[in-house]
Amino acid sequence: MRMDASTCSFCGRKKKDVDLLLSGMDALICNFCIEQGFELVQEELGVKQPTKKKEPQQSFQILKVPKPQEIKKFMDQYVIGQDDAKKVLSVAVYNHYKRLQQQKTNDDIYIEKSNVIMVGETGTGKTYLARTIAKILQVPFAVADATVITEAGYVGEDVESILSRLLQAADYDVEAAERGIVYIDEIDKIARKSDNPSITRDVSGEGVQQALLKLLEGSIVNVPPQGGRKHPEQKLVPINTEHILFICGGAFDGVQRHISKRLNTRPIGFSKDDSTSRLLESQQLLRMVNHQDLKSYGLIPELLGRLPVITSLDPLDKFTLRKILTEPKNALTKQYEKLFNMEGIQLLFDDEVLEYIVDQANEYKLGARGLRSICEAIMTDAMFELPSEEGIHEFTISLSYAREKFERSAFFMMKKVA
Ligand code: ADP
Repeated sequence: MRMDASTCSFCGRKKKDVDLLLSGMDALICNFCIEQGFELVQEELGVKQPTKKKEPQQSFQILKVPKPQEIKKFMDQYVIGQDDAKKVLSVAVYNHYKRLQQQKTNDDIYIEKSNVIMVGETGTGKTYLARTIAKILQVPFAVADATVITEAGYVGEDVESILSRLLQAADYDVEAAERGIVYIDEIDKIARKSDNPSITRDVSGEGVQQALLKLLEGSIVNVPPQGGRKHPEQKLVPINTEHILFICGGAFDGVQRHISKRLNTRPIGFSKDDSTSRLLESQQLLRMVNHQDLKSYGLIPELLGRLPVITSLDPLDKFTLRKILTEPKNALTKQYEKLFNMEGIQLLFDDEVLEYIVDQANEYKLGARGLRSICEAIMTDAMFELPSEEGIHEFTISLSYAREKFERSAFFMMKKVA
């Protein structure tokens, strides 16, 4: 066979009609024939055709996004109450992941990010809710504290360190980090303080809010993988924040005043009624919180604009605290029972003990976080002594035992000093 130097020996296509023409010993083959030959070989050997390379859009897909009601149901197993917040979060998260799956269309409709801001007292479950959501979606999750962030040039951490944490949580898988969830706590503590005449330079306030904007709006941010301050020799990893869901939370102490001012109602705190009705009043007001109130509290409009979804968490009353103590999948009493069970001991709590723990937690106003410290104060001695004792198969925490242990604890002493 005479080899024509400019045509494919298999299909006869001319060199000018193909992208590639490879020469062998005494034949030429074009890219079309190579591809066809490859497919034939695969078919012949029964090898599955490789799927087409993913479009960049598709690579962000989370295959199965649970429906909002499923997300809420999952949260119900762990988080007690806070129904409004759960509902709002479920929808925001669901829409966020739908947004990741949106294909480019010609209708000019582009679903925007639904970053969330949560308002609620400390220990009411803000972080816990965000963490639970990350768990159901199985995406990387990081918690950051807004108060440690400062403007570039001041002592503290750069805003980029927030993303360093997320990258670490994603095991340095940039693509996974880029669809993660970040919870920024204490966002209220970076409220603008310029009304305060004693502060000449607003180091931790407005400047930090400005710095946060670039993270929240969706841009490429160069992140130091190990966190901390950026320095010239450090290699930076570019992270696109467009698909990262940001959830911010804060106690916004006293925001009720701004709400009642807007609504033109009597501010709380002047009510002569008992503490229960004051709590209810505060709760009702908080449920009406909107962006305007947070603006008057000191958050800049640009930041609020990037946190379009707002929700509030109810303060925890004794009834809810009691449920938190015993009911969730991961309830504190269940955790202690499991620990003792591993020693072969059945642990029992008298009912009055649970009441006692709740009363103390309520008094210290630490929300559900107080429950843990109080339980530890009561349980430490038993956890220290029982593993070394033989022949104990059951241990009951009675009210007198709980009271004695708690009143000797540093926690209790703290109250006495205060
Ligand atoms: P916040 O972020 O609002 O200050 P956290 O989410 O850190 O509060 O809550 C502290 C702990 O209290 C959580 O780890 C969780 O164990 C418990 N907790 C708080 N609120 C609830 C709730 N509504 N249901 C169940 N557990 C809760």
